[in-house]
Amino acid sequence: MTKKIAVLGAGPMGLAAAYELVKNGHKPIIFEADDRVGGMTACFNFSGTEIERFYHFHCTGDSELISLLDELQLSSEMKWRETKMGFWYEDEIHEWGNPIALLKFRGLGFFDKLRYGIFAFFSSKRKNWKSLDKLDAKSWIKKWVGTEVFNITWRSLFELKFYHYSSNISAAWIWARIRRLGTSRFNIFKEKLGYIEGGSKTLLNALTNSITSLGGQIRLNSPVSKVLIENEKILGIEIESEVEFFDTVISTVPTPFVSKLIPDLSKKIIKQFSAINNIGVICVIIKIKKSVSSNFWLNINDPDMDIPGLVEYSNLMPMNENIVYVPFYLPGEHPKFSDPDEIFITKVKKYIMKINKSINEEDFIDAKASRYRFAQPICEPGFLEKIPSLDLGVKGLLVADTCYYYPEDRGISESVNFGKSLAKKILHD
Ligand SMILES: Cc1cc2nc3c(=O)[nH]c(=O)nc-3n(C[C@H](O)[C@H](O)[C@H](O)COP(=O)(O)OP(=O)(O)OC[C@H]3O[C@@H](n4cnc5c(N)ncnc54)[C@H](O)[C@@H]3O)c2cc1C
Repeated sequence: MTKKIAVLGAGPMGLAAAYELVKNGHKPIIFEADDRVGGMTACFNFSGTEIERFYHFHCTGDSELISLLDELQLSSEMKWRETKMGFWYEDEIHEWGNPIALLKFRGLGFFDKLRYGIFAFFSSKRKNWKSLDKLDAKSWIKKWVGTEVFNITWRSLFELKFYHYSSNISAAWIWARIRRLGTSRFNIFKEKLGYIEGGSKTLLNALTNSITSLGGQIRLNSPVSKVLIENEKILGIEIESEVEFFDTVISTVPTPFVSKLIPDLSKKIIKQFSAINNIGVICVIIKIKKSVSSNFWLNINDPDMDIPGLVEYSNLMPMNENIVYVPFYLPGEHPKFSDPDEIFITKVKKYIMKINKSINEEDFIDAKASRYRFAQPICEPGFLEKIPSLDLGVKGLLVADTCYYYPEDRGISESVNFGKSLAKKILHD
């Protein structure tokens, strides 16, 4: 029997869930608050260039994304390239991210480099992460590489991404990031990252077309205000004060919304959702006449720059223009989060001109800042026990967001995988 299913959120997780459902004969309706699909992967027209609000690269281990592209007959759209990583430190760009670069780096002594190299190597080979779940990441890294090395290579990354949360991040979460990037290589010396031809839009269009052609619906500009529960069963949803009846709801919206969206959950469960912290992002994208450097990713440790790094996207995806993304991660409650976009854009231009002195004001073609309030869950030590159960005690209700696939970092592949598994759960119930 087909169920009446509402999917909340048309990010990769919601779309993947709906796609799995339509393939199995259901006709879900997706409700999306935004005026477009995609969530964090949504695209916009940047003075003639159709591009994501937030940069996206892919790793060779992103197996769920790779097989979804295959299923959608888009395998040939995934392009793999050799990319370079750099490190802006003491007013110059150093090569980074491979053993030779580490040996050449003048900021560390020989034994420090050895310790750093051993840490990076063993972290990317490690498989068992459960013992890292309860450890704090800073202490874990310092134990391997020492405080001095940590301060040069990692401290600014932690502090400018997590601010007051930076001493409270799970080592398992950091390990998963190191392993994802560390294993995406042609060989030990060459990094291998991927992009989708046409960007995430290629995937979003294919999913949207498949869902709608198989009978699903996607309603944009449709923020759901409440999920209605009666006798521990789903009754429906409320949208613009109207009620629509459903027997199943899959919510993929960021979990900080849950306490308001589903207030009839038990107090204990609401408390669990409310205990998960998130940080926001203001991501500046710049179109520029000259390339900043030859790196795709430039880590930054500079007391005059309040950013952890800079992503020169056109060094991954060949484009007619040079495109640079600069993320400012900030807790939503931080006073800087409410600064106007222009402040972030001005800073980015200043930082770029400091990094590459041949660039001046006239070289900037366009700039835009995009915001996402709940861009990254804070996965604290012991996070595994903090994730609310998928069984919320309400028949027909499933709730998840990017924190559910901890220790993996938020990613398209992981959201696709989780979305599929939510749909399968509904299909098997
Ligand atoms: C700066 C940045 C860089 C990133 N880089 C990469 C990368 O390089 N590679 C990679 O794989 N991933 C990357 N990601 C992560 C990736 O974008 C996410 O993992 C993925 O988009 C998450 O998808 P999702 O569907 O789980 O959640 P989301 O994308 O958050 O989707 C949730 C959706 O719910 C909607 N919504 C919210 N409230 C309501 C409501 N009340 N009613 C209806 N709809 C609602 C939202 O509008 C949104 O569309 C990056 C993210 C950011 C922010």
